[in-house]
Formats: sequence, C-alpha cells, structure tokens
Amino acid sequence: MKPLVILGSTGSIGVQTLQVAKEQGIKIKALAAHSNVELLRRQSREFSPERVCVSSEDPDALSEIAALPDCAVVNAVVGFAGLKPTLAAINAGNKVAVANKEALVAGGEIIMSLAKAKGVPIVPIDSEHSAVMQCLAGQDAAAVEKIILTASGGPFRGYTKEKLKKVTREQAMRHPNWNMGAKVTVDSATMMNKGLELIEAVRLFGISEDKVEIAVHPQSVVHSAVEFIDGSVIAQMGVPDMRLPILYALTYPERLPSSVKRLSLIEAGCLTFEGFDGEAFPLPDLARRAVRFGGNAPCILNAANEAVVELFLRDKIKFCEISEIVAETYEKAAKTKTVSLEIIESTQKSIYKKFFD
Ligand code: NDP
Ligand code: MG
Repeated sequence: MKPLVILGSTGSIGVQTLQVAKEQGIKIKALAAHSNVELLRRQSREFSPERVCVSSEDPDALSEIAALPDCAVVNAVVGFAGLKPTLAAINAGNKVAVANKEALVAGGEIIMSLAKAKGVPIVPIDSEHSAVMQCLAGQDAAAVEKIILTASGGPFRGYTKEKLKKVTREQAMRHPNWNMGAKVTVDSATMMNKGLELIEAVRLFGISEDKVEIAVHPQSVVHSAVEFIDGSVIAQMGVPDMRLPILYALTYPERLPSSVKRLSLIEAGCLTFEGFDGEAFPLPDLARRAVRFGGNAPCILNAANEAVVELFLRDKIKFCEISEIVAETYEKAAKTKTVSLEIIESTQKSIYKKFFD
C-alpha cells in the first residue's frame, strides 16, 4: 500500500486513521494539522513522517503535501479548506480517501470531473457512503433503483420544532452513537449532516437527488443500503466504529483483517427505522433543493452552515436559530447554474463575509 499523507491528522478521523495505519503497518509520508501543534508534534515523533505541516501558518502547505509523489491522501480536514488540497492531490495523480464532506458538497462536480479526467479514485470514508460503495461492489450501475442513507437522528431525535427551542449547547454536543469533531456533531444534531451526505451521495455515485432516501436508524448498525431494480435491498452493517470505513477506504477494493469489534446481531437485538419531522429538521430538504438547483447552490448552503455552526460553537446563537439562519442565508444569496473553482471560492468568501469580517 502507498504511504499516507493525512490532512487533519489531529482531528477525530485523523487520529483514527493513524490507529488504522499503525495496526496495518502502513507508512506515513506526511501529516498536517491546523492549530493543535502539540498533538502534531507527538504524532510526528511516533510516526516519523517525511513532512509535517501546520496549515494555519501556511494555507498553501496543505495542497503542497497533498501533491507529494507516490502516496495516497486521506483528507480528514473539516470544512471548505479541504477543497483545494483535494484538487491538488488529484492533479498529482494521488488516490484520495475523503472524510471531508464539505469539499464534496461545495465543489463536488469539480472534484469528480477532475478525478475522472485524471483516472484517480475518490474513495469515501464517511460511513454511509462507504456502506453504499460496499453494497454497489460487483453490481451494474444500471441496476440501482435508489440509495437509502441511514441517519442516527442525533441527540434530538423525535423532538418537535417547539421542543428544540429549549435545547442547550451541551445537549447538542452529546451524540448518542459517535464521538466526532465539534462541527459534525452539531451537523448531526440539526440533521444538516444528512443533507450534506445526500449531496455527497449525489456527487460520489452520480445519482439524482430523488433517488436518495433518508431513514432514521437510531442504533447505527445498518450504515446504509442500496435498493436494486428487482426490489432486492443490500445493506452494510457493522459496529459504529469509523476505523472500519477508514480501513476499507485505504484497502478498497480489497479487505484486510482488523481488530475492530465484531457485530453481534443477537446483542444488537432490535434494529428500528423511522422517518423524521421535516418541520423540526428542515435542512435535509434544503440540501435536496440546493443539489437539484445545482451550480453554486450547494456551496452557498454549505458555506452558510459552516459560518452559522461556528457562531453556535462560539455561543453567539441558540441551537434552534441554526436552521433558521442557514435557510434565510440560502434563500437570499445570489445563485448561478454555472460552476468553476473561481465561482465556488468567491461564493464561499461572500457568504462568510456576511458573518465574519
Ligand atoms: P475534527 O474537528 O475532529 O478535526 C478536524 C481536523 O481538521 C483537525 O485536524 C484540524 O486541525 C483540521 N482543521 C481544522 N480547520 C482547518 C483548516 N481551516 N485548515 C486545515 N485544517 C483544518 O473533525 P472530524 O475529524 O470529526 O471531521 C473531519 C471531517 O470528516 C469533517 O468533514 C466531518 O464531517 C467528516 N466526518 C467525520 C466523522 C467522524 O466520525 N468524526 C464521520 C464522518 C465524516 P487542528 O485540530 O490542528 O486545529
Ligand atoms: Mg456519516
């Protein structure tokens, strides 16, 4: 296996990628972090990479190390900052394992068409998309009827719009099944995470939005499923542990033995599935509309969400205001049907400017 460049090595996915690399004996070529220099220092002592970079000191450094020769890149950065390094990796012919869903949402068309032109694989780490990729293995694309993305429902599953008015920041940060970075934890609580994942699925699998269904599955054992034209449904299951999809992204299409805890269906007991209240959680529907419009609309939605979640994390707004402000920003923003890197970057900047100077 090619040595790894890990962008965002100090985050939740980055740290778990290093655990997988250690267990599998995969070499580390380079590590990049943003602010957590102390952890980055400890990681580089342990893994002896050729290069280490702190992106807050040099924003182009991420793209530079993503383009190192003869490596596979794991993009575990959070937010739009991951877009350019993804493109740099593809341009250099490096396979990219992507956790960074925001880049796929904002610039998915650009990423996928460049990857196709260069013949570079883009492999998802996100557990739902890893599941879909596993369900699709060996299947004809024309035989796919729809994709069923499962969602845990987050800490506020079953809450009404009224009840969401009273929730605290602390409650929002407590995800029932996964221990993740702050932004994706908030996205899970608003269900924007499923909206982003819907767009991510449209980009990765080249399927239209109306063929992606969302099913709330609080146990997070079925990671997603695919329905085929004959009515058969194939689902992928496992314990909720991100090291599984990370390992699969690195070894795809092969599998390697791992020490990840085994799923016992008997212990799991009851697996349940349900819909969700679109009034309390309006963001997945907004994501549908954005991807249907195309152009820079998904980028607008993603940028608004990134900025508003940052305000929430800084305690400037209440939880129930997140979806309201994101929706209002999305509706007001000027949309265009054309996409280019320039348009996407200026869209991101102009939305951010509405919130921060
Ligand atoms: P974390 O917040 O835990 O980690 C984010 C990483 O990105 C850190 O290494 C951080 O560096 C770095 N980073 C932050 N801001 C910037 C920036 N502006 N430029 C460059 N690097 C930056 O996030 P997660 O690991 O939870 O998530 C990473 C991505 O994976 C997200 O897109 C998320 O949606 C996706 N994802 C995460 C899952 C999970 O289980 N955690 C599951 C599925 C998808 P530093 O810490 O040094 O500041
Ligand atoms: Mg996911």
